[in-house]
Order: sequence, then C-alpha cells, then structure tokens
Amino acid sequence: MKKTVRDVELKEKRVICRCDFNVPMKEGAITDDTRIRAALPTIQYMLEEGASVILMSHLGRPKGKPNHDFTLEPVAKRLEELLGRPVQFAPSDTVVDDGVREKAAALRPGDVMLLENVRYRAEEEKNDPGFSKELADLADLFVNDAFGTAHRAHSSTAGIADFLPAVSGFLIEKELQFLGEAVDDPKRPFVAILGGSKVSDKIGVIENLIEKADTILIGGGMAYTFIKAAGCGIGTSLCEEDKLELANELRAKAEAKGVKLLIPSDSKLGDKFAADCETQFADSTAMPDGWMGMDIGPKTIEAYTKAIAEAGTVVWNGPMGVFEFPAFEDGTKAVAKAMAESGAVTVVGGGDSAAAVKQFGFEEGMTHISTGGGASLEFLEGKVLPGVACLQDK
Ligand code: ADP
Ligand code: MG
Repeated sequence: MKKTVRDVELKEKRVICRCDFNVPMKEGAITDDTRIRAALPTIQYMLEEGASVILMSHLGRPKGKPNHDFTLEPVAKRLEELLGRPVQFAPSDTVVDDGVREKAAALRPGDVMLLENVRYRAEEEKNDPGFSKELADLADLFVNDAFGTAHRAHSSTAGIADFLPAVSGFLIEKELQFLGEAVDDPKRPFVAILGGSKVSDKIGVIENLIEKADTILIGGGMAYTFIKAAGCGIGTSLCEEDKLELANELRAKAEAKGVKLLIPSDSKLGDKFAADCETQFADSTAMPDGWMGMDIGPKTIEAYTKAIAEAGTVVWNGPMGVFEFPAFEDGTKAVAKAMAESGAVTVVGGGDSAAAVKQFGFEEGMTHISTGGGASLEFLEGKVLPGVACLQDK
C-alpha cells in the first residue's frame, strides 16, 4: 500500500502536485474539462488541510521546447472557476526560473499556483535529475495524482520523488485500489475480457491474466489470429501472421492452467472496412473469402454474456468489434451491458474501451473505469508503474 495525502501532515506545507491536465483543446479553448474536475478533490483536500499548492502537468506534445500553443494558462482560468478561488499562473518558458521560485516562496496556506507545461523542457521526458530537483526545490512534499502518466518515468512523475517525500492523491489511490483488487484479490470466478485490434498490443496482458483469471474471453480484431491459428479460414480479417504460433501457445498455457480461454465461435462480417459495407454472419469454421470479421456474432455474444453474468469480477480491456461503425457495435455494447447489469465487480481499462462504455451509456453501471489508457494496460500486464513505485509505502 502506498501512502496518500491522508497519511501525511499538510499544515503549512508547500506541496507540489503532478496532475493530469492534458485536456482536449480547440483554438485555445478547453473542449472537455473532465480531467480538471477529476483533480479537484485532491487539491481541495490539501487546501483544507492548510497546505499551499503548486500544480504541474503536461499538455499535448510541445516536444521539449516552449510553444505557446500548448500553454497551461487556459487550465489555470478554468481551475480558478471550478475551485472558486484564485489560481496564480506562473508563465515561464523554462517552467522554473527565479520569478517562479519567488512566487512559490511567497505562497501562503490556501494559495494555489500552476506551473507552465512541464514538457516545455526536454529534460522532463528524459527524467533528468537536474530538472527533477528544480521542481522539487519549490516545495516540501510531492503528491502524484496523474495516473495517465504514471507508467512514464519523467521528472515530474517519478524523478522528483528522489528529492522529496512522495505520496499519492485520491485519483491514483482509487486506480490502485480498484485495478489492484480486481487483479490480485478478485471475487471468483474472475473473467477477463480482452479485445482490441492487435494481439501484439495485448500479449503482456493476456500472459499476466492467464496466471490470475478463471476465464478469458477473446474478441476484437485480435481474435482472428487465434481463429486462424486454430486452423480456420478468416477471409480478409485482421491477422498477425507472426503471432499465430504464440496464439496457440497461449491457448495451450491456459489449458494447462485450467483457465477457460474462449475465442469467438461466430462473427459479423463486412465486405470492406467501412461503415456502409455489406454485412453477413458466419461461424468461425466457415468464414467466406473476401469478408472481414468486424464484430463477434450472436452465438459468441450469448456465450460471453453468460460468462459475465456468472462472474464475481470482470476486467475488460479492448472492444469486441469495430464499435465506431454502428453496424459492428453490438458485441461491444452487449459486453458493456452485461457487465453493467451483473452483480460482479467490474473494471474497465484502456482508452477505447472506456470511450465505448461512455458512448453506450453504461458508465454508471461499472465499478471503475480507469482514466489511464496506457497506464491501465501496463498495470494489467503486471508491470510496476514508475509514478507509483516512487511513492512511499505505508
Ligand atoms: P483499448 O484502447 O481499449 O486498449 P485497443 O486500442 O486495443 O483498445 O483497440 C481498439 C480498436 O480496435 C478500436 O478502434 C476498434 O475499431 C478496433 N477493432 C476492434 N475489433 C476489430 C476488428 N474485428 N477488426 C479491426 N479492428 C477492430
Ligand atoms: Mg486504444
């Protein structure tokens, strides 16, 4: 267990907090402030406990140089409105300079300041100790509350913890609690649903979850590599030829461990990769040439939703089909619905899977939807996240 802001004295402390303010922007305006809102509970808690707060984040990809297209100034304004108190923005092309140091030193309990985009500095993504120390020297305590970048060892996410005591905020705490419990202490049966486009993206997740799950349901584009490896024709479906052997090895490994690994018994096919293509259904043993598997079929939906209904824990990563096209959304929608309606602990990881859950309106029904696409994947792979590993243990 990692220490959180609740486990440390905050009164009269100067806290530097890494947030995920990487919000979508259009022509200088924030188009979705969900991430800013999500950061409020940790910020408010620290202020109420008597800290002064220095916030930092990246925004977009300024590529290690100052670039005012990526300034965090609009975030400071939005944050000020949401917090209902002044937020001092500290503009600096070098993120930290003498002016910024002076401002930080003058902060009083209850004051909030936001630094400029940490990716204005090339050192940030190199986890350069010099830049980490410049950031650390502004404060007495480091709080990491940016789960979305916790899988990256950068100066503002991990390196800074070499120079300051480090704890998590509420967002990271919640992610670790829900993802961690689902994977390491699941209510059984534990069903993992894995989809998305490529096997190669998900090998680590499948390998890790074979060790932990009772049932693994495979869908999405990557299912066709498994189906072909099992000896069936797959038409023009996605296939990674160099992963056929691996697909069979994973199935054998699952079998040896007594883990049920299911692959689709049927699919909905399209005659081309387009929203307005012709469609038909086919069993996996009889997929016609020239057609592409773009969603799991009705028999597979029935089998998968049954497994979900009987589960104690469900972890889902990767859509079952090309859900962006309405003709191929049924599999993904059915899985989301079955999860939302089940009594199981339900956890969704992965950017596209989370987007699908929201698009179909099943957000409320899930126990937890992870906010970190890449970070949640690495967590499900069983990897240690540098932005978490650097925090103090309880
Ligand atoms: P996540 O972001 O949740 O980890 P991925 O990025 O791995 O998910 O995969 C999402 C993408 O997979 C979606 O854009 C979806 O269209 C695509 N996909 C799903 N099924 C298929 C399929 N049968 N053929 C091609 N692409 C697919
Ligand atoms: Mg994705």
